[in-house]
Amino acid sequence: MATLWYDGTFYTMKEEDEKVEAVLTKDGVIKAIGNVTDIERNFEREITKKISINGGYAYPGFVDSHLHMIGHGERLIRLDLSEVNSALKMKDLLLEKVNEAEAGDWIIGEGWNENNFSDRKIFHFTELDEIAPNHPMLLKRVCRHALLANSKAMELADVKVETPDPQGGVIVRDTDGQPTGYFLDEAQELIKQVVPEDSKHYLHKALSKSVDDMLKLGLVGGHTEDLSYYGSPDRPLQAFEEVIDGNKRKFRAHLLVHHQVAKTVEEEHTSKFKDHPYIELGAVKIFADGALGGRTALLSAPYNDAPDTTGVAIHSEEEFGEIVQFARSIKKPVAIHTIGDLAVEYALNALEKYPLIGELPDRLIHVQVLRPELVERMKKLPLILDIQPSFVATDFPWVEERLGYERLSLAFAWKSLLDNGFVCAGGSDAPIESVNPLVGIHAAVTRRKLTEDHEGYLPNQKLSMFEAIQLYTSGSAAAINKQDKYGIISEGYAADFTILEKDLFSLKGNNIIEANPIMTVVDETIMYEKGKG
Ligand SMILES: [Zn+2]
Repeated sequence: MATLWYDGTFYTMKEEDEKVEAVLTKDGVIKAIGNVTDIERNFEREITKKISINGGYAYPGFVDSHLHMIGHGERLIRLDLSEVNSALKMKDLLLEKVNEAEAGDWIIGEGWNENNFSDRKIFHFTELDEIAPNHPMLLKRVCRHALLANSKAMELADVKVETPDPQGGVIVRDTDGQPTGYFLDEAQELIKQVVPEDSKHYLHKALSKSVDDMLKLGLVGGHTEDLSYYGSPDRPLQAFEEVIDGNKRKFRAHLLVHHQVAKTVEEEHTSKFKDHPYIELGAVKIFADGALGGRTALLSAPYNDAPDTTGVAIHSEEEFGEIVQFARSIKKPVAIHTIGDLAVEYALNALEKYPLIGELPDRLIHVQVLRPELVERMKKLPLILDIQPSFVATDFPWVEERLGYERLSLAFAWKSLLDNGFVCAGGSDAPIESVNPLVGIHAAVTRRKLTEDHEGYLPNQKLSMFEAIQLYTSGSAAAINKQDKYGIISEGYAADFTILEKDLFSLKGNNIIEANPIMTVVDETIMYEKGKG
């Protein structure tokens, strides 16, 4: 009952340049690797199936180490503003949506980024009211740390001149104190909480779209954070169970659990997923700060281009410590969103005070701005770093204005992190960035946008192709303490493969993006094959 995969090149990723011409799998596990003749001779009686990979190049299955899978699916089915490159174009798309909408419908769009507009225009609510006088409107900024709302939405949310800024958030105001319709970080909740709950069908649809899209792009799994954004965590959890049923869809989903729902999930759902073949529950997710785009990432010194601000702490240090302590009480690691250096410092203070219990490592997600002494402290902790190479391509060059020259030496410093011995895992943070792992690999190797052709932003931080692929293979595996099961092609490892038409190691520069997934294999099953279904 064994399957021989042959007719191509298999990069084991155990060491650079190691490749074999065939792999034998059985019961979801790799039984042997080597050349076709040897395997056929040694396992003659067991081989019941032979699958040609059509001259392709196989890698250990790629796993995105940080994203929001339902959010990615929502982006596929909702009004996507991420490609919009002018305020005028954004207005047109919104008008189109308003014209299609039924009475009372919310107009929800996501992904806008004023840095892509020549005038860097951020809409005022009065302009949104002109577009949608009768429908409430909510437009999420690409970073998810800011949103725009019109009058109808603010009315429903009861936001007025006298509404105070909530903790960890800012209601942007005109000089007379009138909210402009722009809500930062925790202030977004004021608006979000009045949006009617998405139907069950909607979550199912969004997640199926998401998984199918990821499989098509060569991903066999993802570490995803979705459980606190759709009302009770039961709803997204149910969507995961239904969509990844092991039959229609096999996919390795590792779910981070936002601290607000961690208690409920721990008490009501842990047993159900204990032995689930494809879905598992992971670290407790905590946000320490915002993001650089909206200047809410928490920095130890003011922003270079806005000297009156150092960003936003989502929790007080004390509160933050309490959340980590709670995670330890249920024997969980934490996964902390840290973009600014002061956010990293807060995180380290808490991690040092409440050390890890259990098998999974703690994770710092993003780590975009560091200081040398923080790196030294990080080295002493059992930490995995979740990096998103695509942010280099999108955030430069404007991020240089935000941070100023001096801070750039340890900004988005992926190569320095690897050289310091950290295990880094690669992700997209989709829907914020493209979920395509080749886009991430391209960014890690070239450190520039796909439309550009130069030496790269901070070129000494470029990764080799081997290192870049490792982010999505052995790196993602180590992040969930499964480095003995996933991440390389070797005997005893899971039969998960990402098979591309072209050889990543021979593609240069912007051609990397054209490697072209032709087959995605999860648990010995072909879940995607180009040209079929
Ligand atoms: Zn995220």
